[in-house]
Amino acid sequence: MKGRLNKGETVLDLLAGEFSEAKIALNFSTPLELLVATILSAQCTDDRVNRVTPDLFKRYRSARDYAEADQAELEAVIKPTGFYRNKAKSIINCCRKLLEDFNGEVPDRIDELTTLPGVGRKTANVVLGAAFGKNAIAVDTHVKRVANRLGLTDESDPERIEMDLRRIIPEARWTEATMIFILHGRHTCTARKPKCANCAVRSYCDYFKKELQDE
Ligand code: SF4
Repeated sequence: MKGRLNKGETVLDLLAGEFSEAKIALNFSTPLELLVATILSAQCTDDRVNRVTPDLFKRYRSARDYAEADQAELEAVIKPTGFYRNKAKSIINCCRKLLEDFNGEVPDRIDELTTLPGVGRKTANVVLGAAFGKNAIAVDTHVKRVANRLGLTDESDPERIEMDLRRIIPEARWTEATMIFILHGRHTCTARKPKCANCAVRSYCDYFKKELQDE
């Protein structure tokens, strides 16, 4: 555990030097916009979501607008993000619940956010960290891969990975760690053929050490 504690902070410091501008890639200006954009980002690139949201956010400005939306119309706007039928349903149901239980406002607590249909811990933590400025670790596919390869966790379940990372990374850096691991996973520690030769943290990486041994 102590080794992981030190390693967690060390790799974060090294990667922070590389990604000084680490911030969420989804465009938004309110918690509701980020919540909707995060739902749309499932199985879709952030770039594609960002191409759809300017028009979407102009048409639908409040939780009530989405809750009372015509599903076919909403589907047509979000279609380029894929899985648009399910996403439209999720957004409408989520916003109905916002109206019913939260006066149309996005709550800023994880236990409340995760009561919303279609909102799991990952989405809730993205909203908490990026829209509310709270300390939150969101485990997406990149965070999961990077944490596993570096040996910061042995878990495969995202919630367990989140708990491991919460233990080894200082709370004030949870949101920063999420952004940095996502960028590292996108640019260097890619799913296929990670660019280990160019990786700033390779000397701390379990995956890299194992690859060297296997050669
Ligand atoms: S050394 Fe390779 S596997 Fe390890 S974190 Fe860097 S890119 Fe990923």
